Amino acid sequence: MKVFDLPVHRVSSWIFNCYLVGDDSDPLVAVDPGLPVVTERALALVRLALGRDPSDVTTIVSTHGHSDHVGGVADLQRSSGATALLPARCEQYLGGEAARTFPLVESSLRFMAVWGQQRMEFTALRQFAATGRSVGFGSSNRMRCDFDVGGYVADGDTLPGAPGWEVVHAPGHSDDSTCFYHPESATLLSGDAVVTHDGVAWFNPEYVDLPTANATEERLRTLEVRHLLPGHGLPVTAPDVWATARPSTTPPSGRSVLARCSRRFGRWG
Ligand SMILES: [Zn+2]
Repeated sequence: MKVFDLPVHRVSSWIFNCYLVGDDSDPLVAVDPGLPVVTERALALVRLALGRDPSDVTTIVSTHGHSDHVGGVADLQRSSGATALLPARCEQYLGGEAARTFPLVESSLRFMAVWGQQRMEFTALRQFAATGRSVGFGSSNRMRCDFDVGGYVADGDTLPGAPGWEVVHAPGHSDDSTCFYHPESATLLSGDAVVTHDGVAWFNPEYVDLPTANATEERLRTLEVRHLLPGHGLPVTAPDVWATARPSTTPPSGRSVLARCSRRFGRWG
């Protein structure tokens, strides 16, 4: 599915979003093929909707090392031969350093409103549980990797294979969290630094460290953003996406059961 009128396509299963960046003739960059089912859909989109060959995907990059953002990389690398890149911080994790993780239940209670934003799929749920045990980090603080890492991206870099896209380190949700920003179209591919709920941006209520998350919110708000392409939730477009954005300590609005549970059972502030 093409996102707004940008040279970006989105494929998803449940709340797990992967983006293919690139125009008709460009090499394609796949961002966050996080589950095998998402990779399957990305490959179908490349072949059928775009009429391209899997080998046109030259770069795969994950916004952070959480399992649901790296779980489909190995399959996509096998099919395309693409170079897989990770945020710079992951080099230390793969060297044995423990990653910081957020308290799972407490954070999930705040985040749960996002679960209802995209159509639930059991395949995604099953694969989410399975990849969590075998690749990346999140449920464990030791990062595992089942693909060849071809390099790392750091703050200020241009995203390899995607001219005009800048790498922005955005820690808070995790210490390696990274966004990709395209100033020309004011588009932010936010990974899990910012999610969306009911059409508004939400600085992720799942965080390892609130002061760090707040500093990232402050920095991201200095970027002009008209198109927000989140890791979870639907893309949002607005003249100024930040005008209605919710801080990570603000509970979700809305009358859905999940939003109500999130307000009632999540710990806020
Ligand atoms: Zn994450």
